[in-house]
Amino acid sequence: MANREKDGGSRKDKRASPRVLREREQRRQTRARVAEAAYAASADDSGPWPADSWMATELAGGRGWVVQGDRRRECAVPARLAREFGGVLAIGDRVRLDPTETSVIERLPRRNHLARKRSDRTRQSGGGAQEHSLAANVDLAVVVAALADPPFHPRLIDRFLIMAQHGGIQPLICLNKCELGEPPPELAIYAGLGVPVVMASAHTGTGLDRLRASLQGKSSVLVGHSGVGKSSLVNALLGSAMATVGAISEKSNRGRHTTTAAQAHRLGADTYLFDTPGIRSWGLWAIQPSELQAYFSEFAGPAAECRYRDCTHRAEPGCGVRAALEAGAISAARFDSYNRLFDE
Ligand code: GDP
Ligand code: ZN
Repeated sequence: MANREKDGGSRKDKRASPRVLREREQRRQTRARVAEAAYAASADDSGPWPADSWMATELAGGRGWVVQGDRRRECAVPARLAREFGGVLAIGDRVRLDPTETSVIERLPRRNHLARKRSDRTRQSGGGAQEHSLAANVDLAVVVAALADPPFHPRLIDRFLIMAQHGGIQPLICLNKCELGEPPPELAIYAGLGVPVVMASAHTGTGLDRLRASLQGKSSVLVGHSGVGKSSLVNALLGSAMATVGAISEKSNRGRHTTTAAQAHRLGADTYLFDTPGIRSWGLWAIQPSELQAYFSEFAGPAAECRYRDCTHRAEPGCGVRAALEAGAISAARFDSYNRLFDE
């Protein structure tokens, strides 16, 4: 995200260039989408899925597993269809099957999806960045962080919040390992931004009831860096009734299906939890530097004071956001997040 032109800034009192107008409109739309995602009740608002649709829980080598209530089918996913979908199915995708229930014939339009940037240089695709849909049709993204071990960093949370909000998915922060100490003061930032926070411990069971209640009746995806306790939380939530219904595996560059990218667990009749174990890189996909500030909603007020309409709040003179930072009205951790993601 580096190397933006810095000298194209327009003074507010001059007429804005088309590029500035375009970027301004883009930021306005992003802010609206982010606000909507933070407060949306759930994606269920758009009504139930058709009764004859199935949910994809697993896909490998042209075959997949789909579920519909208590029914589960293994079926073919013709390569032609995967091309029509613009890629493989993701966990949570709703599909229709042929009358014999042995082949996927249609993918229903996605309500949303959680995407990351996959830049695996060993892939046959030529090594460029690719979009990877981790999960589709998700009501809630549970951003898991640990109070300690690995150390708590707002920066790590910010990345996942942006991924969720970019996908139009309501986020919830789950701070695991909460028995290890006092809650970090930075957590208050997120409550202030309207993001629910659940203090939890997979080890002691603290907060699991609250977490379960938040997941009830939804499809949720767990995201977070490895080691924060995602698998432990899944196990604690599932208890003894292991109910992993499937996993999406990816083809490795040797053509074997080895890497597990997402797993579907069924917690109840309409309650699914998608886990994303073993994913190491969580690059943001399709978010322009100029758009990034829209995800930092607390910047919006101070940004109105910036001398330049298209201020990036990095080095421009007369920046309202940096003034707010110096005055302590914007958190240094959040500003640091913004800068790092901007440079990525
Ligand atoms: P994942 O990589 O996010 O799936 O994390 P894991 O579930 O594998 O957990 C990583 C490590 O953290 C393991 O050693 C767990 O035993 C430990 N862990 C998980 N949950 C807790 C917790 O609530 N408290 C403490 N102290 N450790 C935990
Ligand atoms: Zn500024």
